[in-house]
Formats: sequence, structure tokens, C-alpha cells
Amino acid sequence: MIPAAFEYYRPKDMAGVLSILEEHGDDARVMAGGHSLIPMMKLRMADVPHLIDLQDVGGMSDVSIGSDSIRIGALVTQHDIIDNDALAAAAPILREAALQIADPQVRYMGTVGGNVANGDPGNDMPGLMQCLGATFTVVGADGERDIPARDFYEAAYMTAREDDEVLTAVTIPMPHGGYAYEKQKRKIGDYATAAAAAQIVKGGTTCASASIAMTNLSDTPVFSEAAGAALVGTSVDDAAIKAAIAAMLGDIDPTEDNRGPVAFKKHVAGVILRRAIERAWSRA
Ligand code: FAD
Repeated sequence: MIPAAFEYYRPKDMAGVLSILEEHGDDARVMAGGHSLIPMMKLRMADVPHLIDLQDVGGMSDVSIGSDSIRIGALVTQHDIIDNDALAAAAPILREAALQIADPQVRYMGTVGGNVANGDPGNDMPGLMQCLGATFTVVGADGERDIPARDFYEAAYMTAREDDEVLTAVTIPMPHGGYAYEKQKRKIGDYATAAAAAQIVKGGTTCASASIAMTNLSDTPVFSEAAGAALVGTSVDDAAIKAAIAAMLGDIDPTEDNRGPVAFKKHVAGVILRRAIERAWSRA
């Protein structure tokens, strides 16, 4: 559990970060809270000869709540999300989900940027951000670009971010309607066996729109457009929920591991999605 030797850098600005990334290429990696990367380095699953700590880089630790969107800096921690009452009023699903991540010690250090950039299918924020239709801003030598969360994840630990780009912020369209983040885990502090994010907007007595994403049930988070579509125009009754679950099961591709066999994971995914839909609908 001792990492290989590495050079440690703590640049004061983004230009410094980008120049170290350019100089060392694949041998350099940024670190935010370090609560995914350092364990990987200690287990020798990540070899990082040049480690660039982002903590002194300004401009990435704020949350700004606008009239139609919310911008969260990459270095905002999971604890900051939980602690921010204005943010919880504007987008309560963020606090609900953050409270289900790990434990307080991890949440004091783990950042939103690190959680979404990591590419670990077990991370909770990627699916949440897909459900909310978020956009990730990254900056590199060629400037800044925005990548929709729904297009960001390519495979486990593989994302649309280039190695020499840094994720600086997450922008979320102002959420509307009812919401729920439901997570099944083996014990407190564990990653999900299955988790579901749901956002439902009501129009009269029926569902006007629904957005659903699942966590840890494929090698990427899964935005299930078909599951959301199965609810639209219905009164979110039992038949509609069963149709949404069937659609979601067609989109996920779980594998057997120490959280259980495939059949069990699919069963849990269905139970969790039903709970998320029912709670989101009750709040819509
Ligand atoms: P780091 O560890 O610093 O970085 C993670 C990866 O992202 C690295 O590859 C790094 O290079 C990259 N990265 C970080 N920031 C940026 C950036 N701004 N731009 C580009 N790349 C970047 N997470 C969950 O979601 N759910 C859980 O249930 C959960 N349980 C946990 C339990 C334990 C015991 C531990 C130790 C961690 C757990 N985590 C869980 C992970 C935790 O939330 C991490 O802190 C988080 O996933 C990564 O955030 P970080 O800031 O620590 O990133």
C-alpha cells in the first residue's frame, strides 16, 4: 500500500497546470481531492510519475446559481454541496445524492470534478449529471470546450476528456419538477450495487417529461432515454413504471462481481428505479 515514487507539483494557476501536463504527457495526472487517485496509486493500479495537485488553482471552488442554470466549480467538494442551503433549495437532488456518497471523511475531500472526471462506473455523480442534462467544461492547450455529460463516458475510466485537458466546471440547467436519487449499497460508505437518478415534470395529471440515469450497472453510467419516454403521457401508474423498468433493463449491461451475479443486479436495478420514479413523481 505504498505508491511508487512521484514528483509532486502544486501550481498556482491553470497555466502552470497545463504547462506541466504538456511537458510530461501521459506521465502526468492532476489530483483534486485524491480520494480515488491516491488509493489507486497505493494499490499500484495507477502509475503517476508527475502528480499535479489542483488545490491552489483559483476559480474552481465556487457555486453560482443563475436564473436558468447552476455552475459548480470542479473543486467544490461533496461536503460543500451538502452544506450549501441555496444550492439545496435550487437543486435538492444534488444534496440527496451527495449524502449517499461514501462517508463524511471522503465527502470533505472528494470533489465534484474528480467524481465526474474519474470515469469510475461506481461514482454516483456521473449518472446524476446525465439525468440533469449537465455539461462539463474542460480546458487544454487548445482552449476551452463544453462536453454534455451524456456524451462524456466512453468505457470504464475512458472519457471524452483528453489527457492534457482539465475539467473546470459542471453546468446544470435549472432543475424542475420532482426528483429522487435512490441507491442500494452493501453497507454504509460503499459504492452502489445499483443507483437511479430520476427527474419528472408533471403537466396536469400526467408526466410531461422524465429523465432517468443508472449507476454501476454497465462500464459507464447509463442515461436511459427509453425509460424516461415510457413515462411520458402516462399518470405514472404501475403499468408505466413496469414499462420504464423494462426499457431501463434493455439499456444496462451489468457484470458479475463481489456485489452479486447479473440476475441479482438486474433485480436490484428494477427495485431501485421503481423507488426513484415513485418518489420523484410524488414530489413532482
Ligand atoms: P481524485 O482522486 O483527485 O481524482 C480522481 C481522478 O479524476 C483522477 O484520475 C484525476 O486525475 C481525475 N481528476 C480529478 N479532478 C480532475 C479535474 N478537475 N479535471 C480532470 N481530471 C480530474 N464515490 C462515489 O461516487 N460514491 C461512493 O459511494 C464512493 N465511496 C467511496 C468510498 C471510499 C472509502 C473512498 C476512498 C472513495 C469513495 N468514493 C465514492 C470516491 C470519492 O467520491 C472520490 O473522492 C471521488 O470519486 C473523486 O474525487 P476526488 O476529488 O477525490 O478526485
